[in-house]
Amino acid sequence: MPATLEDATATTKVETKVERLSRRQFCLCCVGGAAFTAAGGWLTPRQAFAEARGIVSLIKDSAAASPIVTHRLRNNVSVFEGSGGNIGVLTGPDGKVLIDAGIGVSRPQITKALAGLGRDPVTHLINTHWHFDHTDGNAWLNAVGAKIVAQENTRRHLSEVQRVEDWDYNFLPPPSGGIPSEVFASEHRLKLNGISIGLKKYDGGAHTDSDISVTFGEADIVHVADTFWNGIYPFIDHSTGGSIDGMIAASDANLAATTDTTIIIPGHGHPVSNRAELEEFRDMLVAIRENVAALKKQGRSRDETVAAKPTAAFDAKWGNFVIDPGFFTRLVYEGV
Ligand SMILES: [Zn+2]
Repeated sequence: MPATLEDATATTKVETKVERLSRRQFCLCCVGGAAFTAAGGWLTPRQAFAEARGIVSLIKDSAAASPIVTHRLRNNVSVFEGSGGNIGVLTGPDGKVLIDAGIGVSRPQITKALAGLGRDPVTHLINTHWHFDHTDGNAWLNAVGAKIVAQENTRRHLSEVQRVEDWDYNFLPPPSGGIPSEVFASEHRLKLNGISIGLKKYDGGAHTDSDISVTFGEADIVHVADTFWNGIYPFIDHSTGGSIDGMIAASDANLAATTDTTIIIPGHGHPVSNRAELEEFRDMLVAIRENVAALKKQGRSRDETVAAKPTAAFDAKWGNFVIDPGFFTRLVYEGV
């Protein structure tokens, strides 16, 4: 970790003009949800912030200790599970191509997992969006030779010190090598290791305003970034352009772009998925969106809507990860 949370805290007072939200907000929001559960009630921002500092440290400690599990798919495409978001890997004579970078402290385990896929160096890293748990490893991967490619909003968010007002907290950009050097607006194509790689931004905002899908054409495999959380409620980042309707639109786009034989890599959750699971995710989003919108239309406040448990029919399956039912309801409520 180049810039620790403690380092960032020290800069809080001198960077009050910076108003952008955190590139680490994913983690902070998640721990906000976790803090709600642990305390049995809402924390004030300052309490939640204090709580978050400890829990983010725990997340990093946990990543540092977690092994990386390699799932081999087909056509020299694999996926690594165990450090932040699911990491796609294409191997071959043009060098290894990574889809997302995981958490920086996982470098030893990721290095070992990469070696297990052959001796080709890492030459390319594609970021699916700007969040910390997908880009924290950018700097070390660039240092070992990876050119970083992303949608232009990913570079913009990573290039700025970001102020999180609610958390009374500033986050520092990564070292310059960790910032994508090649960006595009809507679509980009690469041909590496005999595979056609298609990068495509989701229209409008989905999980953020920077999400892209990465398609390995000949392999019939697609990494759909954090527009799909397999079997768990997703985070939606309103601070940088995400919304429930954008998530539903992205799910529809993913369904339109895949078939029953496509292997789908979700941003989080079990990393080897398929169209049937994606469809179930999409149907869950639509049903909960309708429930929450109906309650909001009746004039219920956010907390009253949470208390009405509009996710109840789905909680046993989807509510067991860091985005708990109450927190997911809040995220949906904000967007309808
Ligand atoms: Zn994310």
